Amino acid sequence: MPLHIVRNDITKMKVDAIVNAANRTLLGGGGVDGAIHRAAGPELLAECRTLGGCETGCAKITVGYRLPSRYVIHTVGPVWHGGGHGERQLLVSCYRASMELAKEYGCASIAFPLISAGAYGYPKDQALRVAVDSIGDFLLEHDMDVYLVIFGKDSFVLGQKLSADIQEYIDDHYTELHLSKWKPSAICGKARTNAKTEIEDALFSIHMSPMAAGPVEAIYGKDASASLDHLMDELDESFQQMLLRKIDERGLTDAQCYKKANVDRKLFSKIRNDVHYKPSKPTAIAFAIALELDLQETESLLKKAGYALSRSSKFDVIVQYFIEKSKYNVFEINEALFYYDQNLLGA
Ligand code: ADP
Repeated sequence: MPLHIVRNDITKMKVDAIVNAANRTLLGGGGVDGAIHRAAGPELLAECRTLGGCETGCAKITVGYRLPSRYVIHTVGPVWHGGGHGERQLLVSCYRASMELAKEYGCASIAFPLISAGAYGYPKDQALRVAVDSIGDFLLEHDMDVYLVIFGKDSFVLGQKLSADIQEYIDDHYTELHLSKWKPSAICGKARTNAKTEIEDALFSIHMSPMAAGPVEAIYGKDASASLDHLMDELDESFQQMLLRKIDERGLTDAQCYKKANVDRKLFSKIRNDVHYKPSKPTAIAFAIALELDLQETESLLKKAGYALSRSSKFDVIVQYFIEKSKYNVFEINEALFYYDQNLLGA
């Protein structure tokens, strides 16, 4: 199930478990640890005293007391010593151990702060990468609603290379529209024109024929009839039918597809059971990403749901950037969308 990136105070999250970036004593500290203890009340510290501390990279669980969450999972992130001291592996282990503990306690939802990204000094862009990758990997194998809670505007930093690349792409493509210079890319424009012409030609031929009411096959032969049938099938195909067809063609299972799309299982079964289901645009795009469609195929799928990609929308331009680069990691795309204050894909 999906990964949501949200801006909030983790002590306000109504989820089954929130994760505390604690220290090895588990006896309270500053930052998010202090905020959680203040909101939970003194009973939390009393229970923590019974736990005997926690190793770096491991996790322990308590109840949530006055917090809206049922549990608090306390994990100890690594202190940053330059990156050559197993920091990444330990941080991955914090996320993994916390989610496994949550699963063991029957939690369907969990919220994380950016572990180690405060007083422990882990560079924020790298801490974010590790968080998104570790959670994403876990979600490919398990069902859970996971929230990555970003606190304060400046705690969200995209990797330098990625943010420079995207910014350049946005500058090139997004602003150009405002100067009225943008033209559809050659491949998209051509493909669109070809398809349109083929359909128009076919319809025009029928319309112009004095025997239009008769079978096409009788007038134009078997081949023309078959290709017209094919065109008509494509015209009639709904978003749901096209999606399911493409999942089959790609050899994916339903679960592989909705997980790669960061889409909830329940939403997917709704789509599966309703041939005329009309998804939101971010959901439709999420499936295009999961199916690793190129720009032209993405446009066709979106069209089935009544949408198009536009260069006058920052959301669309960012999505196009990733598709053009064949970067189909929905979580990475969501990082970038979040950074630019846009809707996220899937969840
Ligand atoms: P660490 O010692 O693991 O670095 P910190 O508490 O210092 O832990 O910081 C971890 C992250 O938690 C930082 O990104 C910080 O901005 C964030 N944070 C601090 N308070 C909160 C809060 N109330 N809710 C969510 N995140 C928070």
